[in-house]
Order: sequence, then C-alpha cells, then structure tokens
Amino acid sequence: MNKGMHEGSDMKFIPMTSIKSTVGEAVTADVYYYTNQLVNVIFIGEPASEYWYLVDAGMPKSAEEIWRVAEERYGVGAKPKAILLTHGHFDHVGGLVDLLGKWDVPVYAHEAEFPYLTGKQSYPEPDSTVEGGLLAKISAIYPNEPITIGSQLKALPNDHRIPGMTDWEWIHTPGHSPGHVSFYRSIDGLLISGDACITVRQDSFYQVLLQKAEVNGPPRYFTTDWEAAKQSVATIHALHPNIMIPGHGVSLSGNILQEGLTFLVDNFDDMAVPDYGKYS
Ligand SMILES: [Zn+2]
Ligand SMILES: [Zn+2]
Repeated sequence: MNKGMHEGSDMKFIPMTSIKSTVGEAVTADVYYYTNQLVNVIFIGEPASEYWYLVDAGMPKSAEEIWRVAEERYGVGAKPKAILLTHGHFDHVGGLVDLLGKWDVPVYAHEAEFPYLTGKQSYPEPDSTVEGGLLAKISAIYPNEPITIGSQLKALPNDHRIPGMTDWEWIHTPGHSPGHVSFYRSIDGLLISGDACITVRQDSFYQVLLQKAEVNGPPRYFTTDWEAAKQSVATIHALHPNIMIPGHGVSLSGNILQEGLTFLVDNFDDMAVPDYGKYS
C-alpha cells in the first residue's frame, strides 16, 4: 500500500450482495459495467484496449474483484489511464486505496469532494431513520469516515473536460453529496449518473404507478441537500440521455429512461424527498 494512503477507520466489508455478482452488461462496444455487491463499477474502453478508464471503485474490500474483472476485459496486468469518481461515498471508493497500491494512476474527482478523499472531513452520518425501507435501515452500519489518498487525486478541470477522454464531459450534479458529478458522452447520449438518480426502488408505492420505469432519486440515507438534488435531476433530464448507467440498479435506455426521468422531475418532492428523516 502506498505511504500515507489509508482507508477510514470505519471502512469494513459490508455483508450484502445483489443477485448478479460479476455478470455485467456491455451497454455499448466500449462501455461495460458490473454490480459489485450493490454498487456499479464501470469500465470505459473497448475490450483488450490499452486506453481504458475506471469509473468508481466499488464497495469496501472489492479491489481483488475489480482487478479480476479488469484483467478479464483488458488482459493480464491491465491498468487504467485514470480512475474517475462520481463522489466519495464508501460504496464508490471502497476499493480505491487498495487499487492505488497497485495502480499508480490519477484519480479525478470534483474539488468539493476533496475533504472526504483527503481525510479532512467525514460525510454526515447516514440517516438510518429516513423513510426508505431496508436499504435505509441498514445504512446505520455504513462507513462515513473519509479515505485518504495522496498526490494521485486531481481536480476535474473547470472546462468540464476529462483529461484523455475527448468525447466525454463531466457535469456537476450535487445534492446527494457536494461534489457529486455525472459523466456524459453527447455523441451517443450515454450518461453515468452515479447516485444523482438511481434505478433501485426505494419504496413500493411509486413503483406501481411507474410500471416498468424505475428511475428514482438519490439514495435517501446519505442525501443532505434535497433542493440541489432536485436541480441535478432536472439537469440530467434536460440532457435527454439515451442510455443511463446509475450508481445503483440496472442501466436503462430509450423511452423507459426518458419517461422515468420526466416522471421523476415532475414528482420529485413526492417521489424522491422522504416524508421524514433528519435531512428532509
Ligand atoms: Zn452515494
Ligand atoms: Zn452509492
């Protein structure tokens, strides 16, 4: 492990898993994601290419699995050009310190997320009392302490470009966390939304109304600024993405995605903002 880098002292393996383990989905020829326990890890770059990027770093203790998936796709000893972070919550940076021990690569994140990536500040405690079912209830055991990474951490540049990735831009989508970003490629309308909006249902009522579409607001237990979160969903809706890979849940595309985003924007206060909870 690199000198000076460390995980938060509350970082630990969380005994939870989704149904599909490392069976992922290629949403385009060059973009692939798989679900690591309950969070998506995304690989940008065609199979066997030397030019590829990792988006988010999984749950705690996931580095071995991420290495394995990376080698299956890109070959033995594969190393990304950079790691991009949507934000610094434990379920998106869980494997990061271990990954950087083997991969000396830049890590790009929004500057507003730096305190949580440099050991300076903890995120607010997850709100396990928030309306939102089992996911919210077990969030009491989720780590919120910052990780500490060193000089590999780089700020996403102000011009919204991502170094080395000509077709992509980053979009500030705060609310779920202050420096939360989404990644967007306009040529095919591919959006990586992180936790700005997800496709896991948080309660069952609106699921009935929505039928197949499952676009939901950000995970409630960690979201502290609901006004900003609402604005961020409106920003995403205005892009009219064709395909969306969220931080949690399956990718959606086409009409199901469009209608789901429209429904979420139109009903955000009822649908996404919890009726009770300490940040609502
Ligand atoms: Zn999050
Ligand atoms: Zn998350």
